[in-house]
Amino acid sequence: MTTRQPKAVALLSGGLDSLLAARLVQEQGVYVEGITFFTGFCTDGLHHISGVYKGNVPKRNNAMWAAEQLGVKHHIINIVDEYKQIVINPPHGYGAHLNPCLDCKIFMVGKALEWIEAHGFDFIVTGEVIGQRPMSQRRDTMPVIAKQSGAHDRLLRPLSAKLLPPTLPEREGWVDREKLLDISGRSRKVQMALAERFGFRDYAQPAGGCCVLTDENYTRKLQDMWQHRGSKDYEFDDVMLLAVGRHLRPNERMKLIVSREQSETEYLQGYRKRFGHIKTVSHAGPITLVEGEHLTEDDWLLAARITARFSKGRNAPRVTVRVAGPGEEGRLMEVTPLPPEEVPQDWYI
Ligand code: SF4
Repeated sequence: MTTRQPKAVALLSGGLDSLLAARLVQEQGVYVEGITFFTGFCTDGLHHISGVYKGNVPKRNNAMWAAEQLGVKHHIINIVDEYKQIVINPPHGYGAHLNPCLDCKIFMVGKALEWIEAHGFDFIVTGEVIGQRPMSQRRDTMPVIAKQSGAHDRLLRPLSAKLLPPTLPEREGWVDREKLLDISGRSRKVQMALAERFGFRDYAQPAGGCCVLTDENYTRKLQDMWQHRGSKDYEFDDVMLLAVGRHLRPNERMKLIVSREQSETEYLQGYRKRFGHIKTVSHAGPITLVEGEHLTEDDWLLAARITARFSKGRNAPRVTVRVAGPGEEGRLMEVTPLPPEEVPQDWYI
């Protein structure tokens, strides 16, 4: 009699924990495929277009990299639209910023459950560790995820399994509970040693969360956007734009997004049809997207002077800029760059 090889899907966030969790079950002879949910807020994607996140970190999709390390088939599933309800109105509330981690996990595990049922897989693997994250990875909230997602005992967390009740794959003997782990807490020592044992190097360093909803700077801009629109809604473009450029609100009518480097300038140029925009002409400099209604000539002049202030002509007496409404060719304007001391800190969102 031949026994069928058990099949699991691993939720790959791109971090080390989910990579190790997947490897631990793979090591026990389970067939594994990876799933990554694309919410729009995923740190990897947004860092690629933003100028802030430079340095030595390789620009790569860490979840794809993890799947490659595991040698597994990888599915990236777009949940941008469905995920909105979680961000806008999370039943379990937000974490330290606008991160709805508990509802996010419930939602993702629920989606993974739909997936395994549709594809004839047996169980779900995540890299969750008891006590590692304040909201979704606590001893009391981990059972909530298993229950409310509907996955119940088809959800296996190999890194903390020995500290949790046995799950279906353990009871069925698809995996040996004794070979699973009992990690808890925030220290990453055990994971790092395990990574060494499995030969995983160059893995993504934990950055406090797998998405920018845990990022104070990002969520401040999201809050500001909601407040000024008078509604907690967003489009995918909003999510992207909040990650790019300096955001300034010099008055209640007008918000500016000023690019910080060439890649951002190129990216923001793609929005010239939707937004008013200003570009320096006489000197190298940024592009500024101008958002607002009923803007006065003084507003445009101020926006032009701010744009000039961030250009190579910041110390020149006059800088020529092109000022245009959405989709327009625009007109040339010669302005005096605004001195830095006249750009107060509270303009920055
Ligand atoms: S950090 Fe973001 S993606 Fe990760 S669980 Fe929290 S809300 Fe979800």
